[in-house]
Amino acid sequence: MRPEAIEAMMPYLRGNYANPSGAHRFARRARQAVDESRDRVAEAVGCAANEVVFTGCGTESDNMAITGAVSRLGGAAVCPAVEHHAVLHVVEHHGGRVVGVDHAGGVDPVALAATLDELGADDGPGVAVVSVMAVNNEVGTVTDLAAINRIVRRHAPGALLHTDAVQAACWLDLRAVTPHVDLLSLSGHKFGGPKGVGVLVERGGPRVDPLIIGGGQERERRSGTHNTAGIVALAEALAITDAERATENVRIAELRDRLVKGLQSRLDGVVETVPPERKVAGSAHVCVAGVESEALLYLLDEAGVCASAASACASGAMEPSHVLAAMGVERDVALGALRLTLGATSTEAEVDHGVDAVATAVDRLRERTAAR
Ligand code: PLP
Repeated sequence: MRPEAIEAMMPYLRGNYANPSGAHRFARRARQAVDESRDRVAEAVGCAANEVVFTGCGTESDNMAITGAVSRLGGAAVCPAVEHHAVLHVVEHHGGRVVGVDHAGGVDPVALAATLDELGADDGPGVAVVSVMAVNNEVGTVTDLAAINRIVRRHAPGALLHTDAVQAACWLDLRAVTPHVDLLSLSGHKFGGPKGVGVLVERGGPRVDPLIIGGGQERERRSGTHNTAGIVALAEALAITDAERATENVRIAELRDRLVKGLQSRLDGVVETVPPERKVAGSAHVCVAGVESEALLYLLDEAGVCASAASACASGAMEPSHVLAAMGVERDVALGALRLTLGATSTEAEVDHGVDAVATAVDRLRERTAAR
């Protein structure tokens, strides 16, 4: 977490832990903190304060967008095959449609339009929601949401367009994303805020049915006692991320290029999975020929380098990446996938250490294979 976000939340954990829905003075103060945080989030996202709904995490925001749209509008949910499981599994749960992607992980516009036409035909169920992530969590691909919006408006004019922007906040000015969508999801822990707090932006007022029903908090859109400390910290982290984004994008793109070029100069057979011009600065996903990620990650962990192959799943078990499979990456290439990412705390010294650790580990594994 960003130190400023920790500082911001402490008063609401230590001193004023009142419930912001209460009536006494401490409750009113907590309420004010939630309202001010809502204003700050709205400012960074480029929406009105009353369009911001605080949720319990990014997964909840994604679920609310899709399940809430299907419940309110009827019809099918549609998403590309590379979505995070917080979207993909929900679309599948509702019997929706999954659309193919290109080699860089971008949704295929022709396939999307054809799917929407088919669902919208006279004997079709219609389309409730199309969900396309702003930035892919595994390989970093950026979506042109203006183009997706044009396709949706043309081929499914009654549908809502949702974007999972959980991985976008650090890299994209959200004010340029929001105008193209109806619904947008964020998660605090992806930009230096705490885990367990998220946002769903519902542009133009309530667009979907609530997922969590109870005491009527968040103007009946998301019941449950507010996580005041988490909300205040999320807003603080987002405001700083927003202010630093332009300079961080330049700094981190340089570090990312140093990392990938460093690996390629030390090792043969290192391929950058998505070209830099199609992805965010913080993503250095590579496939390393002749090694298996599981063994590589084990050696990297020993060397103090924390990396992963795909996304973190609940079991921690290694599963083949659905993202790489959808992109058409051959299975033996995908087996050597290494998902290195950079962010606000990354330094040149860390990158050089990372290059050294990966190169040493890969050399060891390749020597072992050759000796067999
Ligand atoms: N969507 C994307 C793209 C993510 O990367 C993640 C988390 O890794 C989520 C959704 C889920 O967010 P949360 O962990 O807050 O539930």
